[in-house]
Amino acid sequence: VEPLLSVRDLTVAFPTGDGPVRAVDSLSFRVERGRTLGIVGESGSGKSVTSMAVMGLLTGAEVSGSITLEGRELVGLAERELNRLRGRKMAMIFQDPLSSLHPYYTVGEQIAEHHRVHFGSRRAAARGRAVEMLAEVGIPEPRRRAGEYPHQFSGGMRQRVMIAMALACEPDLLIADEPTTALDVTVQAQILELIARIQQERSLAVVMITHDLGVVARVAHDVLVMYGGRVAEQASVEAVFAAPAHPYTRGLLDSLPRLDDPDDAPLRAIPGSPPSLLAPAPGCAFAPRCPRAAPAGAEARERCERIRPHPVAVAGHTVACHLPLGPAAAPYAPPREVT
Ligand code: SF4
Ligand code: MG
Repeated sequence: VEPLLSVRDLTVAFPTGDGPVRAVDSLSFRVERGRTLGIVGESGSGKSVTSMAVMGLLTGAEVSGSITLEGRELVGLAERELNRLRGRKMAMIFQDPLSSLHPYYTVGEQIAEHHRVHFGSRRAAARGRAVEMLAEVGIPEPRRRAGEYPHQFSGGMRQRVMIAMALACEPDLLIADEPTTALDVTVQAQILELIARIQQERSLAVVMITHDLGVVARVAHDVLVMYGGRVAEQASVEAVFAAPAHPYTRGLLDSLPRLDDPDDAPLRAIPGSPPSLLAPAPGCAFAPRCPRAAPAGAEARERCERIRPHPVAVAGHTVACHLPLGPAAAPYAPPREVT
């Protein structure tokens, strides 16, 4: 069975005065209908660029490899065709809904217009659909609130409006790029719950872009950990939380707040900074920060620094590391319930 979204060997380079910056390098993944893939990484890991490439929203970038939606190739597709697919087949929500909403039109008008453009529906029908959508995403008094402007909504309610707009055209694929990062913890949980609910009800394929493995634990079935534009590790959420195979994934897990002992466990951020994408090292991008490379001895260290680890299948994980962690090496209690 063809997956809804299939990405193969995706490479994205931006030309700069100092040479091309490879924001994404040979990335492959797939997302089935009814599944949520969490793409995790620090800023600059290439996760947002990946989602923009899927949506066909990158300008001035060199994109190679293959991105197929229902078997249809998107790389190199004409803007007009892409435009038709955005909305009808795939939709995206962002961290800051205010920047995507027009300040001078009511939210009802904006959702209705979106629907009208993509479906050619009549104004009255589109307006009715907008109210239905606001109700579906849990906005109280949807008929009244459809007549209000974006600034009259709280941050969480605005994100609900964006989700309503994204869903108005019944896409098969929803990409959410840090949709809850700007929200406080309680509202964050509500929005994640909403995304998980609509994902199930509509059997959507969802790509959740986040820097937070805690978000992944809440909504995702599968996870792709990116580092320096490449895949570090890929597995089911259960497998990654039970026993991460890549030292970077382990570091991300260790820096999550522990719910079982919130006071006693200060965040352990991974020391060091993200790698240069302009002049990438020949070996493993994580080598300068990896706690596993140095104690492994000179020979192993040299391999980490000189030879790029390619993703291979190890015990249900796909991992790009010369010295992957074994299941016994990482007893780890998930900080939050894995769903
Ligand atoms: Fe660490 Fe080496 Fe694995 Fe890279 S390849 S993550 S440096 S152990
Ligand atoms: Mg980003």
